[in-house]
Amino acid sequence: MSAAAPVIDPAEFELFRDNVKRFLEKEIAPHYEKWEKESWMPREAWQKLGENGLLAVDQSEEYGGAGVSYPYAALVLEEVAKAGFCSLCTALSVHSDIVTPYVAHIGNAEQRAYWLPKLISGEAVGAIGMTEPGAGSDLAGIRSSAIKQGDHYVLNGSKTFISNGQHADLVIVAAKTDPAAGAKGVSLFLVDTTLPGFAKGKKLEKIGLHSQDTSELFFDNVKLPLNALLGEEGKGFAYMMQELPRERLNIAVQAVYASEGVLDDTIRYVTERKAFGAPLSQLQNTRFTLAQCKTEIECNKAFLNHCIDLYLESKLDVPKAAMIKLSTTELQGRVTDACLQMHGGYGYMVEYPVARAYVDARIQRIYGGASEIMKEVIARSLVGR
Ligand SMILES: Cc1cc2nc3c(=O)[nH]c(=O)nc-3n(C[C@H](O)[C@H](O)[C@H](O)COP(=O)(O)OP(=O)(O)OC[C@H]3O[C@@H](n4cnc5c(N)ncnc54)[C@H](O)[C@@H]3O)c2cc1C
Repeated sequence: MSAAAPVIDPAEFELFRDNVKRFLEKEIAPHYEKWEKESWMPREAWQKLGENGLLAVDQSEEYGGAGVSYPYAALVLEEVAKAGFCSLCTALSVHSDIVTPYVAHIGNAEQRAYWLPKLISGEAVGAIGMTEPGAGSDLAGIRSSAIKQGDHYVLNGSKTFISNGQHADLVIVAAKTDPAAGAKGVSLFLVDTTLPGFAKGKKLEKIGLHSQDTSELFFDNVKLPLNALLGEEGKGFAYMMQELPRERLNIAVQAVYASEGVLDDTIRYVTERKAFGAPLSQLQNTRFTLAQCKTEIECNKAFLNHCIDLYLESKLDVPKAAMIKLSTTELQGRVTDACLQMHGGYGYMVEYPVARAYVDARIQRIYGGASEIMKEVIARSLVGR
């Protein structure tokens, strides 16, 4: 069913943007470099985000949210990405814009009352565990199982590449409740990470997104209460399909605004740096490259805004969401590469923001469904399987 798009007061919206920017300048910018070097964002950062009302802003006031619409949530991601804090952007996107909506949309009253206030205040950090060592793109192949035994489920298996895995207090885990039923046997569970048998593996070392913690998780006979089941048994895939458009929209927001941020930074650089007696910005190749990047960013932004409007009207379908993810993350790859090139050797030095933007961008074409999978989803909507 489609819904009417919410009315947004532009003055209020821009005031919120100023608040987010101020928070980033005061609470994130002074520490971000250190977090990236240490590959760790401390827990206090999550608490600060919560105290300042920047987690899951679009959740209901009943649970401590601001009760505003999705564009406010997207604004938080926009500003974080534009400032070049991509590790934080991914961490936030998973917590506020994937995990929290799953609980809000699919959870029952008891689950919402227990988890939402904690997620919104930053008392609890959320993660989502779909991927396993043997199943990424092909999620029907997951082997984790949750078998009902009387008044509980017994969860066994493992997950890998889980964002926020080290900090997580809540992990939404996809597991087979009926291993013989293929995709139809997959269910989702709200797993409290303090339960016996739940173990966090090592924090994985990555080429980018250093301070965004990514982990393996292990489940060894974890006894889950029946009320850990999220929604209905066997509907895990249907729920994932329902929530996927927003997940992909978040990645697209990050892609467009991270691209804009790195282009702005590059414009400053080429205006100051001289070669052959003039700023780099006077060279025709530099000018054309900047113009090309800006044009592509604006085109993608227009498509992104269109998709946000569709989402607000409950009309963003799976193929469109795949298109926006595909288009914007491929854009981010092109823009960061072109911007690095315009920096010359300095672009290869980690102390230059463009170097970080370049490596951070690379994963965007893989997680949340790789570009090849996006093309397959789109093709299916055109010509079937
Ligand atoms: C930093 C990071 C954070 C992540 N965060 C999370 C998280 O929070 N939660 C979570 O569950 N997962 C997470 N992931 C996992 C991520 O979603 C998967 O890595 C991704 O879906 C791809 O799965 P895979 O790595 O198993 O690759 P594979 O599925 O093995 O794919 C390998 C290659 O084959 C291609 N391929 C596969 N199938 C097809 C096909 N049918 N047609 C054409 N090409 C195909 C893929 O596109 C890819 O290029 C994260 C990964 C990383 C690296």
